[in-house]
Amino acid sequence: MPISTARNSILIALCLIVIALPAQAETLYLKAAHLVDPIEGKLRSNPLVTIVDDRITEVAFGASAPDAATVIDLGDATLLPGLADMHTHLTFYTSDNGYDSLAVSYTDEAVRGVVNARKTLMAGFTAARNLGAGGFSDVSLRDAINSGRVPGPRLQVSGPSLGITGGHCDSNLLPEQYGVKSQGVADGPWAVRAKVREVNKYGADVVKFCATGGVLSKGTSVGARQYSMEEMQAIVDEAHTRGMTVAAHAHGTEGIRYAIEAGVDSIEHSSLIDDESIKLAKEKGTWLSMNIYATEYLLAEGEKNGLLPESMEKAAFIHERRRASFARAVKAGVNMVFSTDSAVIPHGDNAMQFSRMVDLGMSPMQAIQAATTQAAKLLRWEGQTGGVAPGYFADIIAVNGDPLEDISELERVVFVMKGGEVVRWEEQSP
Ligand SMILES: [Zn+2]
Repeated sequence: MPISTARNSILIALCLIVIALPAQAETLYLKAAHLVDPIEGKLRSNPLVTIVDDRITEVAFGASAPDAATVIDLGDATLLPGLADMHTHLTFYTSDNGYDSLAVSYTDEAVRGVVNARKTLMAGFTAARNLGAGGFSDVSLRDAINSGRVPGPRLQVSGPSLGITGGHCDSNLLPEQYGVKSQGVADGPWAVRAKVREVNKYGADVVKFCATGGVLSKGTSVGARQYSMEEMQAIVDEAHTRGMTVAAHAHGTEGIRYAIEAGVDSIEHSSLIDDESIKLAKEKGTWLSMNIYATEYLLAEGEKNGLLPESMEKAAFIHERRRASFARAVKAGVNMVFSTDSAVIPHGDNAMQFSRMVDLGMSPMQAIQAATTQAAKLLRWEGQTGGVAPGYFADIIAVNGDPLEDISELERVVFVMKGGEVVRWEEQSP
């Protein structure tokens, strides 16, 4: 090979190496007066968080950023990891109730999702599970958020909820001649297996099914079990085989027990759970996902939001019972995550529930852990979300006061960063 040709080859090779090098990583420093650290379970002072691109690379205390570095100084504020709401319905509004819900198309759901995902993120929730949406509108929403086209939390989504004919996850508002049935309706072990395969095919991360009746559906009793043990086991087996988690909507005592025995990952609502099932959940590591603020909101605003009269009655029946169940579950030390069922409550008001959790026996740190470190375990995102530590996504929020003193500070988030990008920052007036 002539020397010039060899040199050209080397030059070409060098050019290729240069082209292959990633763009210069962007480093930024975030400092504040305090950090609520749910991993260690303590409040720490003078944090300096180093962020490279979308990840945290270092967390130091009492250190200063290098000269000429890009620094976001939040002054007296307290940092926390971004919060996670483990039960949302981003594709619905609070007014989509009763017969009005029949007018909501799948494309309407997609548009609602864009509006509500942004509200949820701005309220400090950088992760969420969306449990129940039509037309896989939640899959599209998750993908649009992940591609950076739409602002919103990191999502795990279920697509349509599985349910029995005439159950809480069916649509029971119209007479038979209209032929309306919800997308997720499936009866019998093989039919539910096929439905799990279908939601998996179209992009769901988690399977949601209705184990009992519910508050907002027509003609279902909250206490009554809906799926059989055989069907629940088929759902769980099929979902787990495909690497998906399973969330069971369950208010009634028997449906809760069946779902735990069948091996679901989380019991949504858990309203009438008894001590035996709390014990069983503890043994099996099942998560309780209890939206205790929802009925308080429904009893105050439900009529205005067009709830069916029977739904108002069911909300009243559930309210104090679920609060009492929550207090018993906290005492027993069972796994619990933060979940609001937003759409039942207004999107963006998610953090209103923290103070209720503290009123019913959680310490402020436990309530924060339910929405951070504990949620990350159920999401299988441990080491990724729910903490401010090296290797985690730079999903960080801030409040002005001390949320361990007054948990309602979380209702007044002043700063939100997701994946290293500032999406909200209300600078303090001097
Ligand atoms: Zn729900």
